[in-house]
This record gives sequence, C-alpha cells and structure tokens, in this order.
Amino acid sequence: MLCPECGYNLPAVSGAVALLCQNCSRAWWVRRGRFSPLAYGALKISASSKDLSFLPFWHLTMGLSGLPIKSRADLRLSVISYQNPPEAWSREAVQILIPAFKLSPRLFLRVAGNMSLAPIDLSQGDQGLKPGQRTEPVRLPLEEAAQAVKVILSDLLKRHRKLYSLIPKTRLRLRHTRLVYLPFKLQGREFVDLYSGQAIPANAIELGKAI
Ligand SMILES: [Zn+2]
Repeated sequence: MLCPECGYNLPAVSGAVALLCQNCSRAWWVRRGRFSPLAYGALKISASSKDLSFLPFWHLTMGLSGLPIKSRADLRLSVISYQNPPEAWSREAVQILIPAFKLSPRLFLRVAGNMSLAPIDLSQGDQGLKPGQRTEPVRLPLEEAAQAVKVILSDLLKRHRKLYSLIPKTRLRLRHTRLVYLPFKLQGREFVDLYSGQAIPANAIELGKAI
C-alpha cells in the first residue's frame, strides 16, 4: 500500500486501524470505504528523543447530560477532591484519553482513567510526528473507544455513589475526537509517560496485540 500523499510505502501492520507514513508523517484510515487522512497531534518533547516511543490515544471531548459534570475540572474534582485541578480546566469541556492500542481490560481502564485526570496540556500538540520517531500502531478503532467512555466514567466514579448511580441514564454527546500521540520513555520494562508519570508495562502492550 502506498501513501496517497507522497507515494512512499506504508508499513504493513497486522490489526492496525490507522497507518502512519514514515516519510511524510501523515496518518491514514478507512472512512466510508475510502482511504482518508486522519488528523492527529503529537505532544512536544524537550528531552532528547532517545528511548522515546509515542503511544497513540483517542482524545474525546464531550458534553454529558444527566451528570453534574460540565468541565474537565468537574470530572477531576469528582475523583480527586483534595487537590485543585489546573486553573484553565474549569473553562474546558469534559475530556477523556483512551489508549488507542489494546490492553487487558483492567489495565485499559486504569490507564484511561489516570491519563484522563493527569495534568496534560492537551491544547498543545497540533504538530505532527517527525519522520523516524518510534510509535505504537493504532489498534483500537475510534468507535470502540467511544463505546468505552461510560465504562471508564463508571470506573472513575465508582467510589462516588451518587454520581455513579446517574451514569446509566447519562447521555454523551461527542463534541470533538482526535488522535494524539503522547511521549513515553522506556524505563526498564515499562513505558513511562513524560507528562503524567503513568507507567505501562511493555509486555502488556505486547500481549495486547493478540486481543
Ligand atoms: Zn507519505
């Protein structure tokens, strides 16, 4: 398969739902039966890119009706009430970061929950990846990520009885979806997110390929 933009060979990755051109760094996916460009962003890094791998996440911005959670700050305060979220978060819509690679269900929920609450500046990151940067393939379709939102919210709010009981009747309205690559550093046997410190065992990503 050739990159529609530059004609370079696209990598053949089994199970991938999006392909990244190693030459021009554009991403492609199939939409309505056609090969189409996929907009994505990558978070900036100041450290050297040695030992770095960019892991893909679906970044979903949404409105929730039926839950008294109206902003990114509300969501975080519902889970972590003893610590103020970054100030700008009260003006940002509710946002969830979902691994776009596959993990076992329990780890998937933990990583999605922690990354969604982590103080990551998601307003940046509109630049693309540089050619040759190491990435993990996108294996979880956006549709499946969107279907996981309520499960992730339930897991986050499981200790908050009142909010938890409202989730089944909550209606989600996705406002914006995009793919974002976050830089992780391989430390020993774990990938550690440079922004949040979230660790993901390398072998969990390897095992996830078979899910
Ligand atoms: Zn290309």
